[in-house]
Amino acid sequence: MISPTCCMKNSDSFTKGLTPSQRIEIDACTQCGECLECCPVQQVTKNPDISPPEKIRMFREFITATDSLKAKFLGAKEIDRKLLEDFTRAIFECTTCGACGQNCTVGINTQRLWPMLRKEMVRRGLGPLGPQKDMPEAIGKTGNPYGKPAEERYSPWFPEGVQVVEKAPVAYYAGCTGAYEAHPMVKGDVLVLQAIGEPFTMLPPEEEVCCGFPLFITGQHDMLEGLVKRLVEGYQARDVKTLVCSCPCCVNIMARDWPLYYGKELPFRIRHITQVVAGAFAAGRLKIERELRERIIYHDPCYLSRGVGIMEEPRDVLKNIPGIELLEFDHNRLDSRCCGAGGAARKVYHENAVAMGRLTIDEAVRKKADKLILSCPACYAKVHEAMQDHETKIPIVDIMELIAGLLGKG
Ligand code: SF4
Ligand code: SF4
Repeated sequence: MISPTCCMKNSDSFTKGLTPSQRIEIDACTQCGECLECCPVQQVTKNPDISPPEKIRMFREFITATDSLKAKFLGAKEIDRKLLEDFTRAIFECTTCGACGQNCTVGINTQRLWPMLRKEMVRRGLGPLGPQKDMPEAIGKTGNPYGKPAEERYSPWFPEGVQVVEKAPVAYYAGCTGAYEAHPMVKGDVLVLQAIGEPFTMLPPEEEVCCGFPLFITGQHDMLEGLVKRLVEGYQARDVKTLVCSCPCCVNIMARDWPLYYGKELPFRIRHITQVVAGAFAAGRLKIERELRERIIYHDPCYLSRGVGIMEEPRDVLKNIPGIELLEFDHNRLDSRCCGAGGAARKVYHENAVAMGRLTIDEAVRKKADKLILSCPACYAKVHEAMQDHETKIPIVDIMELIAGLLGKG
């Protein structure tokens, strides 16, 4: 088979996949370096070659060589292959946490920009890296990027006694990382949904395929439209009006990108589980009687806070626990620090991810928290891994796992 990238030259345009505003953003970077301080990858690697301004500077050079007026009149320059490979490694080592964009002096939306630069390097046959390459085939065969059997998607964790109806206005999407790597989290989700008392539906395990986020974030966009249409039609056939999910990355792509791949507005709204549960507490449909006299600290997942602006709802949920003292990380809400699991970088740069996870644990320990509360399956899996060799142990608990336990479920 002939690869679609085989005929691409290093002098071909670099701006095909960028929006006009992203082209302006790339030009706008002043190289001020204000974003360096907040970059978790910089913090653990100390490697300036993979810093946000350096990545933008390099990409700007590629554009100047191939797409500038001078290039148009005098001919595009061939870019050295080694430079392109270095750039590809830098762009894939990033966790796409978006902290640099949050702190950018000229307002560059890096959480949206970096995935598009990755897509460009994939188009040129330089990315993705390592095991990220296996994801499309795994999703094609099994429906999930881990290549695990579809029949094991729910069965290892789905609690006895929880009812799922055939059709309902509310549907729950477990997501691949929760279903295969963070069982207490998805188990907690369905137990709390049942405690609210509103019937909910789910797609059968072989139909609940990947939301597309791992492909989107690694620049492998070919299968996205098919996955999105399949899922949207599945929920539509079940008369769904609200799709509930606990994974911030799923919620992010569903809310921001599904309408683009579906080609129109979705026939249902997307809600993160903390929005639904905070609403149920406020409406008196849930109440926790048990006291928990503990200091707990909540970590904001990057794709939930900076991604879709959900920051108060998880705190509102936790404030319904009698007796707790809610602590904050120094970097919280829009300013939160990546736990290391984001952007599929953990699949290739495992040591960086563990080092970032340890920083989160260190701060929770320093603040004398009794529990570290998470609300993302990727954070859950990676921070647990970082805890394995950590000298001080602290329980890591998903927010719905905690609530389900206090409601006497699970
Ligand atoms: S998105 Fe996060 S990891 Fe990537 S460059 Fe920005 S701050 Fe660093
Ligand atoms: S803060 Fe913004 S403008 Fe300054 S170096 Fe970072 S990306 Fe560029």
